[in-house]
Amino acid sequence: MSELNLILLGPPGAGKGTQAERLTDDFNLPYIATGNILRAAVQEGTELGRQAQGFMTAGELVPDEVIIGVILEAVEGPAARDGFLLDGFPRSTGQADALGEGLERLERRLTAALLIDVPDEDVVRRLSGRRVSVKTGRVYHVEFDPPKHEGRCDVDGSRLVQRDDDKPETVRHRLEVYRTSTLPLVAYYEERGSLRRFDGTRSPTEVHDHIRATIATLRLEDEL
Ligand code: AMP
Repeated sequence: MSELNLILLGPPGAGKGTQAERLTDDFNLPYIATGNILRAAVQEGTELGRQAQGFMTAGELVPDEVIIGVILEAVEGPAARDGFLLDGFPRSTGQADALGEGLERLERRLTAALLIDVPDEDVVRRLSGRRVSVKTGRVYHVEFDPPKHEGRCDVDGSRLVQRDDDKPETVRHRLEVYRTSTLPLVAYYEERGSLRRFDGTRSPTEVHDHIRATIATLRLEDEL
């Protein structure tokens, strides 16, 4: 079976995490989400967390020297031998180059960059209503996907909180950062023939169906 080396692209709040959850189940891929890795590091108070924390709270990108090594290690690790799903990395052309070089060293290549497209006004609405369980990490939305009991996780009743960087001011800044640093990756992967676009305003199930169909086609092409 051919390996599946995938990255998810899209603005914050595009639904990358939701799709990733489904896709990693479908294809049994390790999910490498830089945001989650960094948030865990901050919570555990590791050196990585200490270096990343200030940037994250401000909605800025963590410097490349801090993040690239961590992600390449995960991509090159045994769990990712048959593929991976990267979410939140790369976020700049520098990071994309580093990933490309890392894969080349392993004689592997990217299967596809999956872009989930959502307009800015939807992003702000989605992120400002997003709530996360402090314990399970499960994500809810006060309007679109509320928990059964307000402020409590359905799984274990743990407290739901708003991520610091989901506050409206920071969301606007994160969108700026997305536009200036990450959006150039759309052209980057388009030029390399790896980009696949999906309409992120559709329901999660529709987006998921589209992505799955695309991956099935990519696999067929790969086997021909
Ligand atoms: P996310 O959960 O993907 O929205 O990431 C949350 C925050 O983590 C971002 O706003 C950045 O501060 C940091 N971060 C995540 N991924 C990266 C990356 N690839 N490069 C730099 N900073 C990142």
